[in-house]
Amino acid sequence: MKECGRLRIKDLLKIAPVGGDVLVKGWVRTKRGNKNVAFLAVNDGSVIHNLQIVVDVARFGEDLLKQITTGSCVAARGKLVESSGAGQSVEVQAETLELYGGADVAAYPLQKKGHTLEFLREIAHLRPRTNTFGAVFRMRHAMAFAIHQYFNDHGFYYLHTPIITASDAEGAGAMFHVTALDLNDLPRTPDGAVDYAQDFFGRATNLTVSGQLEGELGAMALGLIYTFGPTFRAENSNTPRHLSEFWMIEPEMAFYEIEDNMDLAEDFLKYLIRYALEHSMDDLKFLAGMYDGELIERLRFVVDNKFVRLTYTEGIRILEQSGEKFEYPVSWGIDLQSEHERYLVEKYFKKPVILTDYPKDIKAFYMKQNDDGKTVRAMDVLFPKIGEIIGGSQREEDCEKLQKRIEELELSEKDMWWYLETRKFGSAPHSGFGLGFERLLLFVTGMGNIRDVIPFPRTPKNAEF
Ligand code: ATP
Ligand code: MN
Repeated sequence: MKECGRLRIKDLLKIAPVGGDVLVKGWVRTKRGNKNVAFLAVNDGSVIHNLQIVVDVARFGEDLLKQITTGSCVAARGKLVESSGAGQSVEVQAETLELYGGADVAAYPLQKKGHTLEFLREIAHLRPRTNTFGAVFRMRHAMAFAIHQYFNDHGFYYLHTPIITASDAEGAGAMFHVTALDLNDLPRTPDGAVDYAQDFFGRATNLTVSGQLEGELGAMALGLIYTFGPTFRAENSNTPRHLSEFWMIEPEMAFYEIEDNMDLAEDFLKYLIRYALEHSMDDLKFLAGMYDGELIERLRFVVDNKFVRLTYTEGIRILEQSGEKFEYPVSWGIDLQSEHERYLVEKYFKKPVILTDYPKDIKAFYMKQNDDGKTVRAMDVLFPKIGEIIGGSQREEDCEKLQKRIEELELSEKDMWWYLETRKFGSAPHSGFGLGFERLLLFVTGMGNIRDVIPFPRTPKNAEF
């Protein structure tokens, strides 16, 4: 792509002929040199690699060169030549050099390499300019693109489900309220409760925790749909795997039974990881070198191996017989902790695991009930280093069973009238799952903390940028 003759460094490294004239624009990562010659390593965000601009100091003047410091933004035109310097094949011999914006040496925080990820989180407005976050955010884009590609190729329709919702039907987590009421002067009903009838929507509303319930409505009409949007959970979970605002991909498929659902989840994840290996190798190599030497091997391993499938009950038996000391003790009925999930995946099977048929009491009301009266057709996909990456199920399509479950759990049937109508009018077996986008990114980038795979993380007590 050219813009007034400019080539992005990614393209330039691929197609520009040595000896030709090029125009480069970008941010100076480092400046080296002496009185006579300066070497500017310029990065324009298109690729992990910098391009070296060689500047004859006498030609442009020491004053200009003094102003061009780490963090400055420059444009340079000149001849592309073979480089004798280490780590690069070509460089540009500057014939014109323009400074767009300087960066005060005393104030610019990214003077040196080697800042901690914790420190970089405090400068989320500048961290995209580091090699690490450039690589991560390019990969984030690649994965988002691949997700749409996969579903489009497989005949799924992208359904936009609402972000503001009146239903807390999923019970997936604590919700953020959305209100236009004056919090300092709340209208009250006669019995003293907040009178949401006077609120913007005439009822209490929240930020969605999942697009699934609305997704099911789409699947019951379009057959195959997926959502891909932000979801919100007001839980105080300060872990490296939880965000308060995260993105979720939720396909929902009419006529899919749980086995079909598992097949789709496995094929989908493998496609995405293969896509990363095929399209993001430069960034992967960088991240592997910096943070996680086994990253690329692990990605290949997941692509090449069939996921293990077993029931929750079998999983519990393995955990009980493991002789392992877990922080949270194991018995049938517990909600698995990430230490348990990771034991199964990393130590026992050494492969991704799909665990099915969980106790109904630890899963959502809408999951299809098994004949044993105790378990539901849930399926969680468990990954090395991550634990749960996907949660899904076959859905209960029997209206009576669903209503009974709603009653047992004391959920509001009144609020869910529209969801229940899908079971009254042309009900059908169907299934779906939710993939946490940032959990996927943790896996493909090898980063250790979920705050480092989203540009502006929202976590408890943190929403500055
Ligand atoms: P967990 O037990 O790990 O907290 P969950 O069972 O509450 O997750 P689901 O409601 O099943 O999560 O959500 C589907 C998927 O969304 C999960 O498999 C996970 O990949 C992702 N996910 C859930 N909660 C979060 C969160 N707070 N931050 C980032 N991703 C999340
Ligand atoms: Mn889950």
